[in-house]
Amino acid sequence: MVSQVHDHVPPPGDQDPFLDLAPPQGIKLTPRHYAYLKISEGCNHSCSFCVIPSMRGKLRSRPVNEVLEEAERLAAAGVRELLVISQDTSAYGVDIRYQTGFWQGRPVKANMLGLCEALADLGMWVRLHYVYPYPHVDKVIPLMAEGKILPYLDIPFQHASPRILKLMKRPAACENTLQRINQWRQICPDLSIRSTFIVGFPGETEQDFEDLLDFLDEAQLDRVGCFQYSPVDDAQANSLPNPVEEPVKQERWERFMEKQQQISRDRLAQKIGGRLGVIIDEKNGEGYLLRSSWQDAGSREKNGLTNQPKPLGK
Ligand code: SF4
Repeated sequence: MVSQVHDHVPPPGDQDPFLDLAPPQGIKLTPRHYAYLKISEGCNHSCSFCVIPSMRGKLRSRPVNEVLEEAERLAAAGVRELLVISQDTSAYGVDIRYQTGFWQGRPVKANMLGLCEALADLGMWVRLHYVYPYPHVDKVIPLMAEGKILPYLDIPFQHASPRILKLMKRPAACENTLQRINQWRQICPDLSIRSTFIVGFPGETEQDFEDLLDFLDEAQLDRVGCFQYSPVDDAQANSLPNPVEEPVKQERWERFMEKQQQISRDRLAQKIGGRLGVIIDEKNGEGYLLRSSWQDAGSREKNGLTNQPKPLGK
């Protein structure tokens, strides 16, 4: 039957049966109202616990006009929140020498600031993930303070002891992170910071771990995940001496979680009585599942904004 239809109405010669039915914004696995926007692939760092660079290669940034055109198509398709992702968002454009692209008839520099400024023009929430605390990140904080992009940074610190950060070969390990966070909060008091940490990394002493707990006290991060170190096949860290014993890892993890849970509770308590813009992810029989500027959907079950009796806004 299909061949008879084609006899009367031949398909265009350049038709691709696998791609032509895809919508202009591409095929996404996320709900209609939010989407991930991948700006680069690969990574120029060599963290000793990670094998991503050996699997995915060096950083390869997408041309800025290509990224913005995709974001524009997503906005036109009804997306309300863009989650910007990569292995190292703060390094965007390094490999292409920050080559200026043209979008909507104007030049846009392929760096973190240029990209954020342009994305802000699309009228969606823009949430930055996997940012390292380099000095140039300071430049995007005013955009957050002005409400152009979400006052939210996902910064995977992983540790705070300089000795362990060095063993981990972490990017931006030499930066004065606490000072930087304080400066950011002075510019943008609503800034919300999410992070992840590893406890029990090879060679971590009780003093290193206490340095980490002190960092949590000082940094007052909003949302934090913590993992006990476990070796990954072929990672450099596997050859480091002085592995931490499993019961010690467990004990440190529990102490870490206890401290951070109290900090997160206190940070949440400061928001009581305030007003927040939200996006409703889902309505169920009991209420609404929401995302706000300081939380994405991944945390919604844990931080007290689930099943609100009434929507707080859009
Ligand atoms: S920054 Fe480090 S942990 Fe992240 S992908 Fe690169 S090497 Fe891996």
